Amino acid sequence: MHKKLFIPGPVDVRPEVLEAMGTPMIGHRTKDATELQKRVSEKVAKVFMTKNPILLSTTSGTGLMEGSIRSLTAKKAVVFSVGAFGDRWAKLAECNNVPVDLVRAEWGHPTTPEIVDEYLSTGKYDVFTITHNETSTGLMNPVKAIAEVRKKYPDVLWLMDAVSSMGGTPIPVDELGVDVCITSTQKAIGLPPGFSMCSASERALEYGKQVKYRGGYLDLLDLYKYILKKPYQYPSTPSLSHMYALDVQLDYILNEEGLENRFARHLKMAERTRAWAKEHFELFPVEEYASNTVTCIKNTRGISVKDLNAKLGEKGYQISNGYGDLKEKTFRIAHMADRQPEELETLLKLIDEIIPTL
Ligand SMILES: *Cc1c(COP(=O)(O)O)cnc(C)c1O
Repeated sequence: MHKKLFIPGPVDVRPEVLEAMGTPMIGHRTKDATELQKRVSEKVAKVFMTKNPILLSTTSGTGLMEGSIRSLTAKKAVVFSVGAFGDRWAKLAECNNVPVDLVRAEWGHPTTPEIVDEYLSTGKYDVFTITHNETSTGLMNPVKAIAEVRKKYPDVLWLMDAVSSMGGTPIPVDELGVDVCITSTQKAIGLPPGFSMCSASERALEYGKQVKYRGGYLDLLDLYKYILKKPYQYPSTPSLSHMYALDVQLDYILNEEGLENRFARHLKMAERTRAWAKEHFELFPVEEYASNTVTCIKNTRGISVKDLNAKLGEKGYQISNGYGDLKEKTFRIAHMADRQPEELETLLKLIDEIIPTL
């Protein structure tokens, strides 16, 4: 039996989109492939609210995190982490021999504009990273306030992980001044996994020229050089299947549902889940910063999350345990991509029925 997924990726994919994944292949050097790539990139840019060129990557989002921090750091990067995915940036830097400082907030708490100001004011860094939506703690960072203080340091490049939020909540990349913004297909966008997208500012791509060892396959500058020069062709064979699926799904997001309605639906489900969580448990993150795409709930009643999920599974539903050290201490309900409020109601009702039996 297929379980309805309430996990923060992969998400359930609309049947039309799954069908589009099965579109017959074409040569990737053909004019049709160029047009597909160009068309999809233009639609992605609308979701990102950016004029910067979009790169489509046949890797999951982590590939673009690695490629961007390695390709763009000439001096030293500072990674502001609020959880497991923030820490990932620092690990990716270290294993690529990129100098990095890791600044961790207490989990459940945000990266504050003050801490960003404090570190950037040292002048030691040419790159900083922010996790827009930390999936492990269910926290959304105050990026508007961060963007304000960052105006004092326009030369420091801002890389942002928006993997689990882009497409589910407004992230106006250009208005914020994010230099490289990254997302994956298998979260709020609503596609199968294995593909990702980013935007990159002109000055980021210019700045990276001084980085000598940018890697090969994930050299951001090389990838961009390729798509910008020979419009929308990639150096190696990309996942055309994901592009077909994106073409269909982005039309749905932009023209059928509409971005505003999509954001409103996500917010509605987030508010409902938070209210339910507070009634029965507690929210893990500081409420003001609770995520609009995934709710992380403190397991204050000491239930077995594993057993809860097993019983939900018998009914055809799946939620997510806590991530890493937060396993069993928290659990997570994702409400992203094309999940509907009515489906969420059914899930919450089921959990209400199961909890007394645990
Ligand atoms: C899922 C996730 C990632 C990892 O993305 P992949 O596409 O699995 O590589 C990174 N950051 C955040 C916030 C995520 O939720």
